[in-house]
Amino acid sequence: MTISDYENLLKRIEDKLGGSNMKSSSRFELPTVDVMWEGQKTFLRNFSEFPKALRREPDKVLQYLSKEFAVPAERLGDSAMFVGRRAPDDFTRLFEIYVKDYLQCPTCKSPDTKILKENRISFLICEACGAKSTLKGKYA
Ligand SMILES: [Zn+2]
Repeated sequence: MTISDYENLLKRIEDKLGGSNMKSSSRFELPTVDVMWEGQKTFLRNFSEFPKALRREPDKVLQYLSKEFAVPAERLGDSAMFVGRRAPDDFTRLFEIYVKDYLQCPTCKSPDTKILKENRISFLICEACGAKSTLKGKYA
């Protein structure tokens, strides 16, 4: 079987599975961003819900947000503080990118993945289809 045969077969299987079925397995539900401002600081009050939902280290998730916003950030219990004012949509957008770059399997789009480090290179291991892919994100 050639690669293109294999791809055709996959495509046929995908078509058979149908839209609704694919949707529920590929759509990842993020918690709703709960933001509060105090002076020139932004508090993401339910920060701890995100690493839980994403199944990633809270420190890694915070580091990602801090780097992407290019501001210092700090964890305060369940919440996280960011220097500067940020809209809830800014967080939502970053989390959506996070899901694409750090979570979603490029092969089957499943969010059930884990990160494996080998020789300082991070790989995404898919628990649904077993695919091993290089990680798109930089802050794993
Ligand atoms: Zn997969």
